[in-house]
Amino acid sequence: MTRLDNRQIDQLRPINIKLGVVKSADGSCYLEWGRNIVIATVHGPKPMFPKHLADSTKAVIDYRYRMAPFSVSDRKNPVPGKRDKEISLVSGFALEKAIDLEQFPNTVIDINSIILSADAGTRAAALTAASLACADAGLPMKGLVSAVASGRANGEFVLDLTKDEEDTFDAVDTAIGVLMPQNEIVLMQMDGFVNQKDWKKIISVGVKGAEKVYELQKKAILEKYPLEGDLQ
Ligand code: ADP
Repeated sequence: MTRLDNRQIDQLRPINIKLGVVKSADGSCYLEWGRNIVIATVHGPKPMFPKHLADSTKAVIDYRYRMAPFSVSDRKNPVPGKRDKEISLVSGFALEKAIDLEQFPNTVIDINSIILSADAGTRAAALTAASLACADAGLPMKGLVSAVASGRANGEFVLDLTKDEEDTFDAVDTAIGVLMPQNEIVLMQMDGFVNQKDWKKIISVGVKGAEKVYELQKKAILEKYPLEGDLQ
């Protein structure tokens, strides 16, 4: 069974990653994922201002997911809405799990993911790119967050839905972020209605997909840092 874009049901769209593209940032990542394009940057750790927002035990992550106005065909309002804020909040929680924040008390780490072109799965692409930008910034990482969407479209359980698939009549769309190599789910969001049995199937497709994303993330890190080859 192939799909609207001729992929296999468990096949990712083509993914292309490059680290260190934004020279003014401490770390950055450019990521193409099918027709999605994301740039992620990291600035910090730096002293938290205003100081009352600081945590004396660890760094605070300030993650912002944003879609550029030109990222979709009908102009996206640049003012962050509820969707942008919710995605930013829960993705920030996922990134917190990946970084050894206790090393940097009273600081903030600004992480920005900007979607330049959107075709569904952008929160997963943004989180995948953000975790690579953190690694590129040299932050002490416990692991990488590998994120992907899985779900149901046209009666099939599929990995990495496109916008066309998300718009099908029976669509279920789940974004999953997995801390790798620990294999710990750190993000899960779902759109649609599904029974428990199908839900388990969708999660299993997503977790396997995240492992594929992780392999591509490791490859991208090794391309820029060929001597640091002891990643699991
Ligand atoms: P994700 O991109 O993580 O799958 P959604 O399921 O909310 O997030 O959105 C699916 C797709 O719908 C987006 O990738 C984008 O192509 C489109 N989209 C989302 N928000 C808007 C918007 N405000 N205007 C136009 N298209 C949008």
